[in-house]
Amino acid sequence: RQRTLAMIKPDAAASEEEIVALAHRHGLRVVARRRLNLSPAEVRLFYREHRARPFFPSLVSFMTSGPVVALVLEGEDAVPAWRELMGPTNSQTARAVARASIRAQYGTDGQRNAVHGSDSPCSAQREVSFFFGARSLV
Ligand code: ATP
Ligand code: MG
Repeated sequence: RQRTLAMIKPDAAASEEEIVALAHRHGLRVVARRRLNLSPAEVRLFYREHRARPFFPSLVSFMTSGPVVALVLEGEDAVPAWRELMGPTNSQTARAVARASIRAQYGTDGQRNAVHGSDSPCSAQREVSFFFGARSLV
C-alpha cells in the first residue's frame, strides 16, 4: 500500500466532505486530515519549484485566500490513483476530457483547480512531512 498527500484548495474547501467521500469510494483511506490557513511564506515553500513562473504571485494569493484541507490518503497505488481521480491540471480541460474527475466538478480553470496531489511517492513523503511533520501517523 502507498500513501499520498492530497490537498483541497481554497476554492473547493466548502466541498470538503463530498471530496473526501469520493476518495473513500475509490478505495483511498484517510490516514490524517488537517484544515488550516496557509501563510504566503508556506505557499512559496510548498510550491517552490514554481517560484520563477509568471503565475507564481497569483498562485500565492489564491492559495492564501481561504482554508485548505491537507489529507494523507492510503491505498493501492495511492499516488497515481488520486491523480487519476483529480483529473487534468486545468479544470476546463478536465470538463472536456474527464467529466467525472474532481477538477472537472469542483474547479474553475488552470489555477483554481480544486485539489492537489503528490506527483510521486518521493514527493508524497516530502509533502506529508510539510503538513504533518511532527505528528505521528497511525
Ligand atoms: P499536475 O502535476 O497534474 O500538472 P499540479 O497541481 O501539480 O498538477 P503544477 O503544474 O505542478 O500542477 O502547478 C501547481 C499549481 O499551480 C496548479 O495546480 C495550479 O493551481 C497552478 N498553476 C499551474 N499552471 C498554471 C498556469 N499556467 N496558470 C495559473 N496557475 C497555474
Ligand atoms: Mg505539480
